[in-house]
Amino acid sequence: MAVILKGSDVVNAMKEKMSQEVEALIKRCETVGVKCRVFEFPETLATAEFISQVKAINDDKSIHGMLLFRPFPKQVSEDAVKNVVAPQKDMDGMTPINIAKVFAGDEDGFPPCTPEAVMEVLDHFKISVEGKRVVMVGRSMVVGKPLSMMLLKKHATLTICHTRTRDLPGVARGAEILIAAAGKAKMVTADFVAPGATVIDVGINVDPDGKLCGDVDFENVEKIAGCITPVPGGVGTVTSSLLAKHVIRAASQVLP
Ligand code: NDP
Repeated sequence: MAVILKGSDVVNAMKEKMSQEVEALIKRCETVGVKCRVFEFPETLATAEFISQVKAINDDKSIHGMLLFRPFPKQVSEDAVKNVVAPQKDMDGMTPINIAKVFAGDEDGFPPCTPEAVMEVLDHFKISVEGKRVVMVGRSMVVGKPLSMMLLKKHATLTICHTRTRDLPGVARGAEILIAAAGKAKMVTADFVAPGATVIDVGINVDPDGKLCGDVDFENVEKIAGCITPVPGGVGTVTSSLLAKHVIRAASQVLP
């Protein structure tokens, strides 16, 4: 039976550290906690209008960070928008500058929250990646690629897989740490997993019964893996805490 790497354990540990940071911040600026404001736009919003809204948020000193929910409507150019977001307010590492920093191993910027959440989970449960064979299923700019760079920085030996990878189960079985970020419900079956491997499931999908599930066939993989993150209750749980952490850092960088 695999050890279950619960996101809530990581969140509780992070909460303690973050609340200390918030307290220090409160002392400095007499404000309490992180406030959230929702900006909702019509689905028909044109790119130019979206960009002017983003610029207004860039210039608003009362806002320390923003998170743009994707996917955008078809008519909105994501490339155009992400070049306009101020990197210091880009809480989910979507701007080219923040992404470049991840690739350069520069920890100064704001990386995307989900890959950072995976690193936080590994760190919290003291799962060292140094020298280990890590197989990443997925190569998106939101998860697979930035996470691979973070793992490489920690001296993992990476294999990055995608839809053109031949014999994916065979490649995955070579992993000491297997990370599933493909966005395909339960595609990582027991034959992908070496006995005792660590399995990190980033996927958030809905199964045919309408239930939330990951990219990993948890029920069967859990019997083989050494440890495994559940969905829900795993990486996704930690992601939102990382977002809060980023906002605290963004605010502390601009407040006196
Ligand atoms: P994308 O669709 O952008 O990328 C998926 C990647 O997986 C692609 O590189 C694709 O390969 C690869 N892939 C897809 N199917 C297969 C397959 N059958 N075999 C091998 N590789 C495959 O997804 P995201 O990276 O944005 O998200 C991945 C998952 O993570 C989703 O379930 C998403 O919901 C979840 N997610 C979770 C978050 C969290 O907080 N936990 C936050 C963000 C995402 P190719 O490049 O060849 O097309």
